[in-house]
Amino acid sequence: MDHAHPAASAASAAPEAPATAHAGALAARRDRAVRAAVAQGLVDDARQPVAALLDVASVRESAAALRTAFAAVTADGQDVLHTFAVKAAALVPVLRLLTDCGIGAEVASPGELALARAAGVSPARTVLDSPAKTGAELSEALALGIAVNADNPQELSRLDALRPSPAARLGLRVNPQLGGGAIDAMSTATATSKFGVALRDEGARDWVVRAYRERPWLTRLHCHVGSQGMALDAMAAGVRATYELAEEINAAAGRRQIDTLDIGGGLPVNFASDETSPTFDAYARHLARTVPGLFDGRYALVTEFGRALLARAGTVLARVEYAKSAGGRAIAVTHAGAQVAVRTVFAPDAWPLRVRAYDAQGRPKDAPAVRQDIAGPCCFAGDLVARDRELPLLAAGDHAALLDTGAYYFSNPFGYNSLPRPGVYGFTCDDAPRERESANGQDGGAAAAAVRFLPVREPQTLDDIVAESGGARRDALL
Ligand SMILES: *Cc1c(COP(=O)(O)O)cnc(C)c1O
Repeated sequence: MDHAHPAASAASAAPEAPATAHAGALAARRDRAVRAAVAQGLVDDARQPVAALLDVASVRESAAALRTAFAAVTADGQDVLHTFAVKAAALVPVLRLLTDCGIGAEVASPGELALARAAGVSPARTVLDSPAKTGAELSEALALGIAVNADNPQELSRLDALRPSPAARLGLRVNPQLGGGAIDAMSTATATSKFGVALRDEGARDWVVRAYRERPWLTRLHCHVGSQGMALDAMAAGVRATYELAEEINAAAGRRQIDTLDIGGGLPVNFASDETSPTFDAYARHLARTVPGLFDGRYALVTEFGRALLARAGTVLARVEYAKSAGGRAIAVTHAGAQVAVRTVFAPDAWPLRVRAYDAQGRPKDAPAVRQDIAGPCCFAGDLVARDRELPLLAAGDHAALLDTGAYYFSNPFGYNSLPRPGVYGFTCDDAPRERESANGQDGGAAAAAVRFLPVREPQTLDDIVAESGGARRDALL
């Protein structure tokens, strides 16, 4: 059986376009934003010594790249809903921006649903996945008319009790148990993963087919095989297993009961350079080769990308407070540590980040590279965002930038040492003054002035911290 869409085969023969110009533009905007953030006082003593910068153009570009990649392989008129995994950047203006780019929301908690609703994401463009939905969540989701992917048999029974209408958009998450990727904690298709119905367990597949036969309102099938560290082959194999199961269920039902396949997210991000690899385009073409039937127009599709949409757009910019040395090791003590880069600090091998060195004015530092630790402000020894890393030697008053932190970093802060959540500032660059910017940054101020910051989240204040730490209940335990 070969349902390959003609566009898919044509696209798969074409070589990948070089991404270098795109990567260069991204890096140039980032440098300008850092310069501007320092010039405009976003990280000075009066505010906070750490701030998060989000490149609006990069968000728009990656959303467009995703849509274009799938448009190139889907059949004419095939319905594709791209949703953004809200957990990757749980910020209302970001969700709003993505909505404006044609991207809906994948939510996994009442909080995430509330954020999506606050951003104006319509129920028709919202999908609820979560391994632990409460009865109240399920009722609300059905009342709102958002799509729900049930995780397990008990949850399906709860849905039974709610007597869903045939128009409800309900599915089941399955785990094809294909094995893990490079990062255990991100691998959702292992034999013992907590997510979905484990398809290869004894009797499970037959049970799933029966579950659909007994529930005419069950019209979707969902699979998300993992995040970061999954190879394209593994991702495509998961999608293929899902597609094959849908075909089997529909054959058993004698009708096209499953009309929508939700293929999850999980495209990995290359944290080692500014080059986007793999691209959405490469993944879509890979899917078109591996699961051609997905793109012949019989199924509506849903995707749920998070990291690959947003990581590139974000930079954490922190002042270097002190530069010291211990046991022969240079150490830059900065204001970016576990509170903004929790995964990198606690699982440094799985989540290395690039660090870029900027001087006190926010210009790229070009001093000779020296091995040094880049430490954060938290009071535990492991609070390092980079160990023994070769970088221009950072001095007190310089700045360190953590790159590719637009997803799962500053948007997922960790409460430690009562450190405030940093402000998040979107930025846009006006193109005009670029020509005037000289190599030594002498008139970089002009370029910096053409960077406009759009506050997304105010820095948390000390009053906020006291308030959320029981400040109003001072005497509660007396
Ligand atoms: C986290 C998650 C995603 C997004 O994963 P990324 O790696 O950020 O693309 C998509 N779907 C589900 C169900 C998830 O849990």
